[in-house]
Amino acid sequence: MSYTGPGFDPPRPRRSRLRSPLTVAVAALVPGALLGWVVYEAVGGSGDGGDGRTTVSSSAAGTPTEATSSAAPSPSDDPKPGPSPTTPTPTEPASGPLKGKVVVIDPGHNPGNFEHTAEINRKVDIGTGSKECDTTGTATNDGYPEARFTLDVSRRLRALLEARGATVKLTQEDDRPYGPCIDERARIGNEADADAVVSVHADGSAAGNRGFHVILPAAVEQGAADTGPIVGPSRDLGERIAGNFVRVTGSAPSNYVGDGTGLVTRDDLGGLNLSTVPKVFIECGNMRDTKDAALLTSGAWRQKAAQGISEGIVSFLRG
Ligand code: ZN
Repeated sequence: MSYTGPGFDPPRPRRSRLRSPLTVAVAALVPGALLGWVVYEAVGGSGDGGDGRTTVSSSAAGTPTEATSSAAPSPSDDPKPGPSPTTPTPTEPASGPLKGKVVVIDPGHNPGNFEHTAEINRKVDIGTGSKECDTTGTATNDGYPEARFTLDVSRRLRALLEARGATVKLTQEDDRPYGPCIDERARIGNEADADAVVSVHADGSAAGNRGFHVILPAAVEQGAADTGPIVGPSRDLGERIAGNFVRVTGSAPSNYVGDGTGLVTRDDLGGLNLSTVPKVFIECGNMRDTKDAALLTSGAWRQKAAQGISEGIVSFLRG
């Protein structure tokens, strides 16, 4: 679904022309809310059932701490809808509290995996054994694929972190036919010497199973896996993401794993086993539950999810 509200462009010099009443009203929002909306627009905040105006209020409610006065942009005064830029990534990291920090975001799966089953089914070494290179991921009952969800949240997350000054790299952006394999996903974070890595997913569990959970690396020392040095900082990262995810999205921790903590430790994920830098996975909700699916398919909610994850990362990186 295309965005039909007023066009807002990415940060640029303030214009002097008279503004429309709506623009003035939006400009009166706190800078953080404005930033949240502009970031949302910059990453193409649509493609779902949410419309622009709903998103404004949702973003406004969910971004109280994203304010950075230096990064607060001026809204365009153009009342006509305009195309959103497809590549909002600035060429230079902005100044901000995360300047010098490197974050790798790993959008789970790949929309092309469905057409490359032979390639993704080949086994790769994850230290504790071998596992498929990659998987297709799940989908909602209405057919919204997890691989699309993970890309959308990851792009929103990148925009939020870059606005805070971080250098952000995605492991894939639907810019390759399939994958990468889970061992390569880990290697990308390692070779970037990332300060934090988050792998974004949504679960495919039974209906009635609801809520999010963050997956932490277990202590594994076997083959190519040696997670000892990252277990502690990864738990810290995961706890901060879980806490901020609850606060910003209002979603409850999983009611089916983690005993209500929203935290699960696993030793069977290559992406964690092979990481040498702090890393967690987040399962943002259960795509097979209709109530969770209603959230996961909402652009406004995905923006909140990205904000929750972002604020957890910011908290971790600032210590
Ligand atoms: Zn997944």
